[in-house]
Amino acid sequence: MRRLALSVLLLLLLSGCGGQMSPDEAQESIQVLAMDTAMLITTYGERSPAAAYACEDTIRDLEKQLSRTDPDSEVSRLNAAGGEAVEVGEDLYILLHEAACLSAETRGAFDVTVAPVVSAWGFTEDSFRVPSQAELDGLLKLVDYNAVYDRYLPTADPRAAAIGPGQAIDLGGVAKGYAADKIVKVLQEHEVPRANINLGGNVLAYGDRPDGTPWRVGIQDPARVDEQNAFAGVLALTDSFAVTSGGYQRYFEQDGKTYHHIIDPATGYPADSGLTSVTVVAPALEGFLNGTMCDAYSTALFVMGEEQALDFWRDRSAGVFELVLVTEDGRVVVTEGLADRFTLDESSGYTLEVASR
Ligand code: AMP
Ligand code: MG
Repeated sequence: MRRLALSVLLLLLLSGCGGQMSPDEAQESIQVLAMDTAMLITTYGERSPAAAYACEDTIRDLEKQLSRTDPDSEVSRLNAAGGEAVEVGEDLYILLHEAACLSAETRGAFDVTVAPVVSAWGFTEDSFRVPSQAELDGLLKLVDYNAVYDRYLPTADPRAAAIGPGQAIDLGGVAKGYAADKIVKVLQEHEVPRANINLGGNVLAYGDRPDGTPWRVGIQDPARVDEQNAFAGVLALTDSFAVTSGGYQRYFEQDGKTYHHIIDPATGYPADSGLTSVTVVAPALEGFLNGTMCDAYSTALFVMGEEQALDFWRDRSAGVFELVLVTEDGRVVVTEGLADRFTLDESSGYTLEVASR
């Protein structure tokens, strides 16, 4: 028996209560179905409608370039090129380069070339199956981010990229984060004072709430995905990205077993690291690709597991990013930079731990 559960909104921006909302601030809220997700875009200020629709345009434009199921997308053309270099647009050039660097930085826990394995499990086309070990062993030989190659050419269309013969790239683990990075620029261009952008697991809390308090970002309780507003806890954030990866976000069941969409490139199997979700939080700054970084890290650290994820965090300077880890054995581990911005949901039953450097 096979079943797919696409959790609809993974992180909800809670309206909350408390301070006085300013009643006359213009606001626009639109829902966008894109990148396999239900997204919610809420912008504020005089130009809020134009800003919200410009955000939607940005997302749709990226989806067109990066989709693996659209044979005309740039990614599909690169994947079909049999190892030859192809000209690529600015977005794919930047994102592929960044994704290859993030693959190296996470030592392949995030690997942009994992596509053949993701497809074998049926996650690309929604045709779920459990591949044989022999099939996985064969496909794992193609998974190697070192083969990704990009080049800036002194010609009219100056960017080119190539991957190894038989290889394919999957940007599903970073595309929404990159979209959130581009949205920061769109919001600035439209002089939007505040916005909350929920790209399904990828949240951008931009500015603060109209009453001057931080946005409240709920972290879905992975153990209660069928319940609405069942949170492990809530983060109070301004000008931040908060990106969550979890096995509960996309999975199927076969013969009583659950198989989710985050693949451990070391085994070819869905990651089984003792974590049920990883949330990565970093400052939202224009000109930095922190949304992309959070997205790749959330996928990678979910694969790594608690101990390696915390080592990875300790190896980087304070303030670069912070984590909320939800574990299979009923704990929520928050890194110290988030300690006073995270409130555990008491009804969740989790125990809260703060990780220090
Ligand atoms: P996310 O929800 O950001 O964690 O991304 C999960 C998506 O990234 C999956 O649906 C796959 O398309 C892709 N993916 C799965 N495992 C990996 C991995 N280890 N490295 C890179 N991308 C992955
Ligand atoms: Mg990700």
